[in-house]
Amino acid sequence: MSIERIASEGSSDQSNLAFVNNFLSQSSSQSNSATQINITNKSSNPPISNLDNTYTAPPTSLDIRQHTPINDSKLEQESIDADRSIKPTGKQCAICLEMFSFLPESKIIPIITACGHTTMCKSCFYRTKETDVGNKKLPSCPFCRIVQFDSPLSVNEVKKDDLHTSFTLMVKYNGRVTDTNQVLNIPCSMSTTGAEIRDRANELLLKEKIIFPNSSRSVIFNTSLQQIRLHADTTLQDVGFKFKTDSISILEGSIKASSQIVKNKLENLLPSPNGTFRLSINTASHRLQKISINVKKTDTFFEIARHIFVQLYKGGDEQLRQILEQIGLMLVLPEIGFNYIYKKEMVNEEHLLTLEELKVGQATNHMFYGFGQ
Ligand SMILES: [Zn+2]
Ligand SMILES: [Zn+2]
Repeated sequence: MSIERIASEGSSDQSNLAFVNNFLSQSSSQSNSATQINITNKSSNPPISNLDNTYTAPPTSLDIRQHTPINDSKLEQESIDADRSIKPTGKQCAICLEMFSFLPESKIIPIITACGHTTMCKSCFYRTKETDVGNKKLPSCPFCRIVQFDSPLSVNEVKKDDLHTSFTLMVKYNGRVTDTNQVLNIPCSMSTTGAEIRDRANELLLKEKIIFPNSSRSVIFNTSLQQIRLHADTTLQDVGFKFKTDSISILEGSIKASSQIVKNKLENLLPSPNGTFRLSINTASHRLQKISINVKKTDTFFEIARHIFVQLYKGGDEQLRQILEQIGLMLVLPEIGFNYIYKKEMVNEEHLLTLEELKVGQATNHMFYGFGQ
């Protein structure tokens, strides 16, 4: 199976958002309670033929900008679309069709789900949740089926005076793949959409020759409580953006492992160690703990994901088992925008992408794990 095939499996990376976001903000401050797991049953993988084992010392700084320019059409092929827009938010709930109201006694209060959808009212959200639980399923968004671990946020009502005011939004750009961290000043009003913010940011980034597929970038609405995706056609007004307490950031998300950007980045990383080595895998989920496993560079992502899945399943309670069964397990390499989702029904699906190919090691190209959505 090709690298392209594997990378495309990682396209449903929506509500791992908080998860990936946490990597970006708190990289290695994880719990010390490492679970000790050893990978057994090493299968005899056929050798990977397309690896370049010649190693030269890495440069002191990683800078993909020094490489050959990449044209736009090529970037489209390399991208994995981060957006899960549905129809634009209206003034009524898409489920009960009642008009949204901000009045305190209203039952049709507009909300934002953890997946960033603003199309249903609070009552319909909880009714849908009860139905899911009654059907012994994890509660999920009826529009995109992302599992809802968190309560939805109520939308803040935007004052009429604020609706047409233009302002400059300071957007934090978290470019883990391109090693870019900066603040972009983007002109906005409350009717500006996620797509417009992303496009305006892209114009500024292109001027600085920061190249990344724009459709693989995610615009994030940050409140003091949650980080939620601002979808392409969702406006700042739809989410009730508050100048004083909320902020917007942009993340570089998943791209194909075969892309030139990833190849360039991998060139500058140390190779995986030879022999058996210990791999520490952090997680940002409070339901999971840091894991430490013995691996070899010839181990595949499939084997590692399956191993962790089985260990968690064996040691987990009923809820953890339900999560694993419904949404699976995900391995993430945020430095190269790679993620791989393992699900129970994929148990017979083998692939040959190894740690060695993506240069995963103790000190290079750090791996994280979490739930698979
Ligand atoms: Zn409703
Ligand atoms: Zn949704």
